[in-house]
Amino acid sequence: MLAYSFINLGIGVFSFFTILIPVALNGYIAENVVDAIKLRFLASILKRDGAFFDKPETSNAKLVSMMNSDVPQIKSGLDHRLVMFVNNVVALVVLLIEAGVFCWQMTVAGFSMCVFLVVIMFICMRYSHLRTNRVQAMTTHANLAVEIIENVRTIQLLNREEYFSTRYEASIHEVRTQYICAAVFESIVFSIGMSSCFLADAVSYSVGVPLLYAGKLKPGNVFVAAMAINVVSWALQFVGITGLELMRAEPACSAIIPLLDESIDNDGNSTTESEDDGVSPPINGSVVAERIEFAYPARPNIKVANGLTFEAPEGQMIALVGPSGGGKSTIIALLERFYPVQSGKLTVDGTPVSKFNLHHLRNHMALVGQEPVLFAGTIKDNILLGIEDGGFDDVQNACRLANATGFIEKLPLGYETEVGEKGAMLSGGQKQRIAIARAIARNPQILLLDEATSALDSESEKAVQEALNSASKSRTVISIAHRLSSIQDADHIYFIEGGRVVESGTHTELVGANGKYAGLVRKQRLNK
Ligand code: ADP
Repeated sequence: MLAYSFINLGIGVFSFFTILIPVALNGYIAENVVDAIKLRFLASILKRDGAFFDKPETSNAKLVSMMNSDVPQIKSGLDHRLVMFVNNVVALVVLLIEAGVFCWQMTVAGFSMCVFLVVIMFICMRYSHLRTNRVQAMTTHANLAVEIIENVRTIQLLNREEYFSTRYEASIHEVRTQYICAAVFESIVFSIGMSSCFLADAVSYSVGVPLLYAGKLKPGNVFVAAMAINVVSWALQFVGITGLELMRAEPACSAIIPLLDESIDNDGNSTTESEDDGVSPPINGSVVAERIEFAYPARPNIKVANGLTFEAPEGQMIALVGPSGGGKSTIIALLERFYPVQSGKLTVDGTPVSKFNLHHLRNHMALVGQEPVLFAGTIKDNILLGIEDGGFDDVQNACRLANATGFIEKLPLGYETEVGEKGAMLSGGQKQRIAIARAIARNPQILLLDEATSALDSESEKAVQEALNSASKSRTVISIAHRLSSIQDADHIYFIEGGRVVESGTHTELVGANGKYAGLVRKQRLNK
């Protein structure tokens, strides 16, 4: 008797380790795989071109949702459930063979019942899986919550709290209905799993017991076959339930895995290259655009650049003016290579921008846009983002040129002041001057200004304009401006309308020509 106790003890210890080791290993592997997916996903996103983010299926909100909900979903498909699934599939096969050896009739009967139940479970799982797929899509839709929270002030100012609450409620309700449908199918799978052992037992006994009474089978055979079939049905139950969990990870995988391959889906091929691709000559900063044609991939039939030609000689400042939607910002996007030029030539120092090493090209340009983009961190961190190996002296110099030293030094923590998320703790003019300091710290040969002062009040505009004037010295500047006062001294002004240059010259020449630019000047004077 004692021997049996030792055998059982041995089996117990053996089972403990044969489960513990794979589960622990699997947990370790799952954690590493998911981390690798997260890193690769982000790395892949960071290399995408403009066309990629313009697609609705890879919009910013969708990508955030993938990171937040799909990646953890993949992890749930890789944890201990995977080990349990494999374990139980193996147990199922082994025990079926064992049952077959002791009584094939009971095995056929019990197994047929199991197969029948598996088919029903599979159909339910498939349906619930389709539902969960839709749930995934709905989760993306629920990004509305993020949009609401990010724009809470605008919503309050518009008195639209009620409207957004109702929209959010509707989106939650839709998700809830989908989840409930999925849960009904999952509960069917679960219930079949839980009752499968009794159903399989009932069928196998109904075949085995008559054979026993007829003397065609020994009691031992019936007993062993019945026990094996019972365990088979338990294993089946585990397979069903864990299979269900694993299937939930599938939609997340099919959404994320294609995006891990950076070479796929990058329409513009502009940002797909490795760091070593392209030429890296010294850049002096002379920009020439010749008969550029361009339509955004999302709207291929609408030409945004329509034979656009202009020139920004080295060290000069040119200005692009004209009605909104004329294609001015698109020129900057083409120069920064977020999109490829489709026809015509866009060159820097005579070399087409498409031939440059992308990092090299972008290292020699800096953009100051209408809305300064600051990251959570200190003022110093934000300025150092512009330079690879800069020190505190570079930060101070850049801030001095950007007219930012005065307000920074008045702050209790100076350069170590946290700017808050998106720079929320600073005023518009202060944020813009930090963005200018970051641009100056890069010491770019080409400075791109896209309505850099248009979002500011006149007090801040003055301070920022002074910062821009000093930032513009001894470099090529392409400035898009709505307020003409900021570009009157430009070496050359291009009036752009409908994707082409319709007038060009200095301020005095254009006013003298009495064309569209002169009309704009008159209008702005009247508006003053
Ligand atoms: P501007 O700077 O002169 O106001 P833009 O260059 O921003 O003009 O835009 C030119 C046209 O291109 C506009 O009609 C605008 O709607 C369109 N556009 C801008 N960005 C995109 C985009 N990512 N996808 C599709 N169309 C765009």
